[in-house]
Amino acid sequence: MLALDLLYRHGKPIDRHHPDSIELSELLRAAPIYPEAQRKGSFRNSDGVALKLQNLLSAIDPNRGLSFSKTDTEVVAEFPISRKAELAKLAIAIREALSDASEIVIGDQEDIEFQEGKFLTARHRQRDRRLRKKLIEARRPGGLKCEICNFTVSPNASRSTDSFFEGHHTIPLAAAEGERTTRLSDMALLCACCHRFIHRLIADNRRWVGTTEAAAARKALLFESKGTATVV
Ligand SMILES: [Zn+2]
Ligand SMILES: [Zn+2]
Repeated sequence: MLALDLLYRHGKPIDRHHPDSIELSELLRAAPIYPEAQRKGSFRNSDGVALKLQNLLSAIDPNRGLSFSKTDTEVVAEFPISRKAELAKLAIAIREALSDASEIVIGDQEDIEFQEGKFLTARHRQRDRRLRKKLIEARRPGGLKCEICNFTVSPNASRSTDSFFEGHHTIPLAAAEGERTTRLSDMALLCACCHRFIHRLIADNRRWVGTTEAAAARKALLFESKGTATVV
């Protein structure tokens, strides 16, 4: 996605000496996107970046007769030139997440191309944490309640019950305007289980999933014999 964004910005492939090839290479090499011990020295070097732009252009125009991968085809199909502006926004979000990725731990089992896509979710999780405290304080007088499963903690319960809850942004990252100030009304209060669940749904479906849809998906999956749990 970052390479395609670069291709669209320049309107043509750039070579390995171009400052933008070098910049993207440095960004990718500095990010913990693949276990360092398993990397070759050429991992995401500027040659690789320049080649990726050629691959992507070939995926757009197979008549060039040059090689490209299945992933190249998928990225180009998902982000045709008509979605250039949207891709540019996503690229900014991925870049921010990559340069601020100290908290992100990525396993080494999954496909590497897929791992780079995970940074969008990781970025979302970072945003989620920012307003959590304020959200909990605002909701406490009415009792804390998960907006997906209705798990509820009474207003008088011990403060340690806060730990059941997390904040979740209800506005997709791609739709957020840069560093726009987040309002509490953009946040949902979720229990930690449901928060994991909704992010998994978003990742598996490769599209945004709202809390109402997640609640329906949860209901469909779980056998609930005693209704909703409550802490008093
Ligand atoms: Zn829940
Ligand atoms: Zn979230």
